[in-house]
Amino acid sequence: MTNAHNITLIPGDGIGPEVSNATKRVLEATGVRFNWDIMHAGIEVMEEYGTPLPEHVLESIRKNKIAIKGPVTTPVGSGFRSVNVALRKHLELYACVRPCKSYKGIPSLYENIDIVIVRENTEDLYAGIEFEKGKPQTEEVIKFLSEKSGAKIREDSGISIKPISETGSRRILRYAFEFAKKEGRKKVTAIHKANIMKFSDGLFLAVARELANEYPDIEFEDRIVDNMTMQLVKNPQQFDVIACPNLYGDILSDLCAGLVGGLGVAPGANIGEEAALFEPTHGSAPKYKGMNKVNPMAMMLSGVMMLKHIGELEASERLEMAIAAVIAEGKNVTYDLKADSERANAVGTSQVADAVIEKLEKIK
Ligand code: NAD
Repeated sequence: MTNAHNITLIPGDGIGPEVSNATKRVLEATGVRFNWDIMHAGIEVMEEYGTPLPEHVLESIRKNKIAIKGPVTTPVGSGFRSVNVALRKHLELYACVRPCKSYKGIPSLYENIDIVIVRENTEDLYAGIEFEKGKPQTEEVIKFLSEKSGAKIREDSGISIKPISETGSRRILRYAFEFAKKEGRKKVTAIHKANIMKFSDGLFLAVARELANEYPDIEFEDRIVDNMTMQLVKNPQQFDVIACPNLYGDILSDLCAGLVGGLGVAPGANIGEEAALFEPTHGSAPKYKGMNKVNPMAMMLSGVMMLKHIGELEASERLEMAIAAVIAEGKNVTYDLKADSERANAVGTSQVADAVIEKLEKIK
């Protein structure tokens, strides 16, 4: 028997504890052994520690190198910054990996989609370099930019800066190509708007083209982001790995989640050199807190990704098969996976875990 894996588990808030508990149960039912380091973050720890992300939470992840996390609420207008963004920043989790896969039985317009979005997580318009309309620094920035570029910028503008570096582009694109190679995938599509943003998106595209030469067995193509949204809606099956700068990755990953049945089945991972953090794409859906109602499968599928990442390939495959079997059967699924006329027969979060565990026992 292999050693137990040390994993940091952050249950989160809102629906987080429910989907986390369901996920912990199915992960344990695979037979893989875990030493859970349960760590709390978010508004509930604010009073005790004066911060929503206490240092001991980061320490735990740095030590264990692997974490799985439920969603954490970012209160609007409290000045409290997103714990999710802070985790990615502190741990330099530069690659956001979001698989979007069709499972038989999910009400959706499309079939046979198997896309993985690889999104840069640290740069671009998310760098947080912003200048508010009317502030003295903003006036200086406008003056400076007008002088240097010759462009006329209206005085009542707000400004957000979009840095895209060669280093950041190389790191994420390398990740995308290596991921495609390791997973036996056929194609990488790089997304940009280089026709307009020649020095930011253009740089990203130039690095993509250069790196593509090192991977002759992987087909490479690029797409302008607006065309890409149309192509994804028209013929999503043509895509495989999609590599994006931060903003386009954010938008396209929601679009792709919609193609395969929504947030209830959209898992994700944030990966860096030192640590990896697995979490569902969805948020804390506070209105459903404590109701045993929402779908835990997005977090369970994040667990599938985590098992693969820590080398538990067989358990990862079995857990994915068990989840797929529950979806295909269509009996023990939450409201979001039921057709409108069938919603009254939906089951709750913990019953989905029971059903997945039952399937896992049959697959053993
Ligand atoms: P949300 O994803 O929490 O909810 C939007 C809607 O999607 C819900 O009302 C629900 O109808 C549906 N939904 C979400 N998860 C579901 C699930 N597992 N099963 C079934 N249906 C589901 O998005 P929001 O309302 O924009 O955000 C709520 C809070 O979550 C905010 O504070 C936001 O900052 C935070 N958030 C956290 C994360 C994270 O922790 N990584 C990600 C996104 C949003």
